[in-house]
Parts: sequence; structure tokens; C-alpha cells
Amino acid sequence: MTSIFDFNANISQLSGESTLLYKEIAKKVEKTKKLKIIDFGIGQPDVVTFKRIREAAKSALDEGFTSYTSALGIDELRIKIAEYLNNRYSTDVKKEEVIVTPGAKTALFLSFILYVNPGDEVILFDPSFYSYSEVVKLLGGKPIYVNLKWDKSEGFSIDVRDLENKITKKTKMIVFNNPHNPTGTLFSSSDVEKIINIAKDNKLLLLSDEIYDNFIYEGRMKSVLEDSDWRDFVLYINGFSKTFSMTGWRLGYVVAREDIINKMGILAANIYTCPTSFAQKAAVKAFETFDEVNEMVKLFRKRRDLIYEELNKIKEIKVSKPNGAFYIFPNIGDILQMKNIDVKTFAIKLIEEKGVVTIPGEVFPLNIGRQFLRLSFAVDENIIKEGVNRIREFIEGMMNTR
Ligand code: PMP
Repeated sequence: MTSIFDFNANISQLSGESTLLYKEIAKKVEKTKKLKIIDFGIGQPDVVTFKRIREAAKSALDEGFTSYTSALGIDELRIKIAEYLNNRYSTDVKKEEVIVTPGAKTALFLSFILYVNPGDEVILFDPSFYSYSEVVKLLGGKPIYVNLKWDKSEGFSIDVRDLENKITKKTKMIVFNNPHNPTGTLFSSSDVEKIINIAKDNKLLLLSDEIYDNFIYEGRMKSVLEDSDWRDFVLYINGFSKTFSMTGWRLGYVVAREDIINKMGILAANIYTCPTSFAQKAAVKAFETFDEVNEMVKLFRKRRDLIYEELNKIKEIKVSKPNGAFYIFPNIGDILQMKNIDVKTFAIKLIEEKGVVTIPGEVFPLNIGRQFLRLSFAVDENIIKEGVNRIREFIEGMMNTR
């Protein structure tokens, strides 16, 4: 039976942020079992936004900077973003080629609405950030998955042949994320170059989500903006959530050719008008120094080393050392196979029995993740030790039961 409240046909197949589901289970366990929850599920740094940025927001409010701004964001901030990218990557981004958005998710959303027609194929990597596939489906597009290859010592890399094979006449765009959520991979410069060349050769848009660009532990980050032809094929996404620990402020941005940015401005004006005024003013100050960011990354590198060493001691787990973002993605395939359970059941039991929240890899969003768990190491070292210890006990307990 149909009803006036039937959803738009594309919306009925969308899934939401399933990471929240695991949080809910944890809350119940905490209440009923009185077990202190260890949360490896979180996708944000565990520090409050740096003081000088908070102060700048307060001053902006006190000065009455509370009205609508341009749909493209305030000029001061667009200039700072362009300067940051130009200093870092020796490129030539102009203020007019930047739009500030309410979070990187909105930056992604604007990019997808602008380009994805019903029936268009959009290439995503498996695994990848869950929201790409959902928005593509919302617009009637078709996600086409390309496998990331995994090897314990090398970590994840691009399967170039698979990527080339998946390109058809209907392919519109390749979505790339570097450093990578959920695997913590910083892709090699050569992988980045290969993707750039494939996009150029096949006349495809390359949407590059580089929101973890400051969380790098080893190696060099090659940005797609380093390609001197970037205006011909790139939609570059970044934001303030991770680098400056500003998840709740909702600020992201897109860099692309000026006419594309102006079209996004028209979409923005129709959908949300502009990003929050005083948050933008504070974000201008964010770029004044990277001292706190560098301190944070130093701390995260220690945590990364610790969680890798601790997980590596569990013989049933195969894990590679992540060199970017703040996620580690251990392979628990052997355990799942031996015990004949799926990764979701494993993650739920781990919360119920040990109070440890992880995210089962299947939420990212297809096949490869079914062998993996995602753990965020944006938590204190004592929590890492205690949490991995509980995971060890959980696996030992599992192995000892038939
Ligand atoms: N892209 C990736 C790869 C992410 O992991 C996230 C946040 N988890 C986002 C985009 C969205 O970030 P924002 O908070 O700026 O919307």
C-alpha cells in the first residue's frame, strides 16, 4: 500500500551512521554490567578545539559577527585556505577557487549533487568512508567498487588493474581518500600519480578527500593539487574537523575551478545559505600556527606505535602499521573463519562481553571490510593498553570454547 509518507525511492535504501549503533549497545552494557566502556569507535581527536580558536569565536560573537555571510564563505577564510594549500603543495589555488562549507560532508554532498546524474557510475574503493556510497545512491548514481589490495607488511594499496577494468562509458568520477579512513593508509606518491593519470586519460572527475592530510606518521603526502593540471579534473575536499579538532564546528571546503565553485555557491545559497559566521571567523585564526597540530600528531604517533605493538602480540590477528589518519585496521579473518561468525557479531560480542567498542569493517561498506575491525587510536595510551588487553582476553576466551 502506498502512503503520502512514502519516502523518495532513493532514500529508502540509505543507511545512516552505523557507528552510532555500536555506541548505543555500549551504553546499555555500561548500565547493566557496570563495565567501563573503552571506545575505539570515535572518529575525532580527543582534544578540545585549541584555546586560541575558541577565543577567536568568542570575540567574533562579542563583536556581533552573527549575520549571514557569502554562500562561498568569508573572503578572509578563503584566502587563508588558499595560502595554506599553496605553501604546503607549491600550487596556485586562488581565493575564487575555494568554497567553505558546513563540514567536509557538505563539501562532498555539493560535489556529488553537482555531478552525479541518475545511472552514472562512481568508482569507490572498497573499503571506503561509508557516506560516499550513500550519497551517490541518493542521487540515483551507482557505486562501483574497486578493491584495495592488502598485504600484512605492505598494508593497503591500489589495484590499478581492477580500477582500469571497472571504468565504463557510464563512469563519471573516481572518489579517492588519502590518508584513508578506515585503513589508516597513506597512499604512496606512485599510487596517487597512477590515479591521477587514469582520471586524466579517461576524462573522469577525481574527487580527492584529503581531510586527514595532517595526520601523517611516515612518508610524504602527495596531494592531487600538486598536479599542475588540477583545474581540469579535480574536486578537492578538506576540512577543519580533524586537523584542528573542530568536528562540532562544522567547517569544510572544496577547491575546484572557479566556475565549479560558483555553481556550488548557488547550490549552497539554496540549501543552507552559508556556513556559520562566527565559526568561519575563528577558523581564520586556526591557520596562524600549526604548533598544537604538530604536538597532537606527535602524541598520535606514539599511540599508533603502541596500539600496533599491542595488537601485533595477539597471534590470531594480522595487522599492518598505519602511516596516516588515526585508525588501525586489523585483519581478524582467521578468527571469524575458525569460529564461523561474521565481523558484526564479533564486534557486538566484544562490546557485550568486554565493553570494548570497535567498528566492524563491513560498514565501509562492502566486502573487504568483512575481515577487518576499525579501531581509532585517538584515545589515551592507558586506554589503548586496557582495551587491547580486553580484546586479547576476548579472543582467548573465544578460542577456548568450541
Ligand atoms: N571524509 C572522511 C574520510 C571522514 O572520515 C570524515 C569524518 N569522519 C569526513 C569526510 C567528514 O568530516 P566533517 O566532520 O568535516 O564533515
